[in-house]
Amino acid sequence: APSFNYGEALQKSLFFYEAQQSGKLPSTNRVTWRGDSALNDGKDVGLDLTGGWYDAGDHVKFGLPMAFSTTMLAWGAVDYRDAYTSSGQLTYLLNSLRFVNDYFIKAHPSANVLYGQVGSGNPDHAWWGAAEVLPMNRPSYKIDSSCGGADLAGETAAAMAASSIVFRPTDASYADKLLTHAKQLYSFADTVRGKYSDCITDAANFYKSWSGYNDELVWGAIWLYRATQDSSYLAKAESYYANLGTEPQSSTKSYKWTIAWDDKSYGCYALLAKLTGKQQYADDANRWLDFWTVGVNGQRVNYSPGGQAVLDSWGSLRYAANTAFVALDYSDWLTDSTRKSRYHDFAVRQINYALGDNPRKSSYEIGFGTNPPRNPHHRTAHGTWTNNLNGEPEQSRHILYGALVGGPKSADDSYTDSRADYTMNEVATDYNAGFTSALVRLYKEYGGTPLANFPVAETPDGPEIYLQAALNATGQNFTEIKTMVYNHSAWPARALTDGSFRYYFTLDGTTTPSQITLTANYNQCKPPTGPTQFSGNVYYVTIDCSGQVIAPQGQSESRREVQFRIASSGSWDPSNDWSYTGISTTPSTPVTVQNMTLYSGSTKIWGNAP
Ligand code: BGC
Ligand code: CA
Ligand code: CA
Repeated sequence: APSFNYGEALQKSLFFYEAQQSGKLPSTNRVTWRGDSALNDGKDVGLDLTGGWYDAGDHVKFGLPMAFSTTMLAWGAVDYRDAYTSSGQLTYLLNSLRFVNDYFIKAHPSANVLYGQVGSGNPDHAWWGAAEVLPMNRPSYKIDSSCGGADLAGETAAAMAASSIVFRPTDASYADKLLTHAKQLYSFADTVRGKYSDCITDAANFYKSWSGYNDELVWGAIWLYRATQDSSYLAKAESYYANLGTEPQSSTKSYKWTIAWDDKSYGCYALLAKLTGKQQYADDANRWLDFWTVGVNGQRVNYSPGGQAVLDSWGSLRYAANTAFVALDYSDWLTDSTRKSRYHDFAVRQINYALGDNPRKSSYEIGFGTNPPRNPHHRTAHGTWTNNLNGEPEQSRHILYGALVGGPKSADDSYTDSRADYTMNEVATDYNAGFTSALVRLYKEYGGTPLANFPVAETPDGPEIYLQAALNATGQNFTEIKTMVYNHSAWPARALTDGSFRYYFTLDGTTTPSQITLTANYNQCKPPTGPTQFSGNVYYVTIDCSGQVIAPQGQSESRREVQFRIASSGSWDPSNDWSYTGISTTPSTPVTVQNMTLYSGSTKIWGNAP
């Protein structure tokens, strides 16, 4: 079987979490095309809810998958910290865990209040652009004593408890802080039962709690037990285990699905088997992993001809990767050599499939291996200014290193790298979580070398905020210029709200400034002012666009047009005018010009003065 550079795959997989950061970016963020964003999150409820992760290719901060992803990432370091250390990746994991846990702390302002979503699904999904220039309102949604969500609170408790174990050796006070929140959240979950998506109804169309909260009550208790060694949590986990879901019309625990953002039962089987050694839990874990490998009663998860285990069409690789991680972790504990190698080999096969051992001989981790996807369903990585996922540019402007795409939607090994296809080509924080933890486990066994020069800073693909101009009309004593201010910024995307530009010309003969008149027959900015002396007989006209938000938020939002005329009652000769040089003489096709200057406030951001 081909082996891959698991160290590099791990390094890149972790990098993806930095691309998903919302709010003020920490100094540790390595993504050269990201900037601060969503800085008003929480203001609608009088709180600071900035930070956390954008969920996927969109910009909603969905609490349930965010917390689940955190738990899965932390689990990798709880059980394989040595491999995180030896790969040199522990720092990056800790940075990401701290970033997301800082958000959970803000989202949990009092014992029985937890903010579980910022941003509303439909308005967010209806717009296609970069995080840094989000145009829509981002409401904040919570659960509390009057309308609870034991799933959301239980998973967030699990995330913070698991993270506390990871921070314990290097930052005990932060670990304590996380644990305090985790304990409060767990008792909130345990006492105010309910499905969070019945309270945060905006989430119901995106991350509805299908499985309910019983799994999170077991799961949260397991992680609190691991973090505290307090046996009352283990007792709770074991007692609530009876409430976990079963196969229809039977008392057999569910085994035909897998661990993902909704249902953590499968993780509970494996962890309780490990923590207690009891056969009941091992039986449930074995049955589930047998369904994924050799089959149970003649039934097995679908396999593609090329070897992918395909549970479901949407994000198939994420299910395989999550299962792979738990299979590895559990098989490390098993002593039965048949099952040990069965589950281990299954996991290696599934991760290798994702990394390129598949009939397409292509990697599904962006920026890794052979022929990886280039155009994921990811708004900020596209870098368009058109508010259209099929809009310019055709190829995404950024490389979203490390993101695992959804993958084949059927068990047929086929896949298209299409930005429009969110079933096969979206990326998400929960897709990468089990994947990352599986990679650190494979690194421990097989090694690999993270790249020394990663990441290489991206270079912008051309001008980002710039001017174009054309000669609109010309006469004996006037010049009329059509100017376009464009904002196609993406390194990072940013709005221009205080723009202004200048056109430089030379007064001819004995003409004085008072003989110049300025008019505009089409103007999306303020009326032209001047002329202002630049030096000697060189003057400029200023067009102030301040107050206009010129941003890559849509075709018309990303540009402003001004057609202005400079007329003289004295003489007029444009041929010696600095800004006349280089403009298009075809009115309908302005060209990018260097001899006009564009400012943000008083800072020149484009062009050359004489
Ligand atoms: C969004 C995706 C989302 C999908 C389904 C699309 O419009 O871009 O992020 O997964 O809708 O909700
Ligand atoms: Ca659940
Ligand atoms: Ca002149």
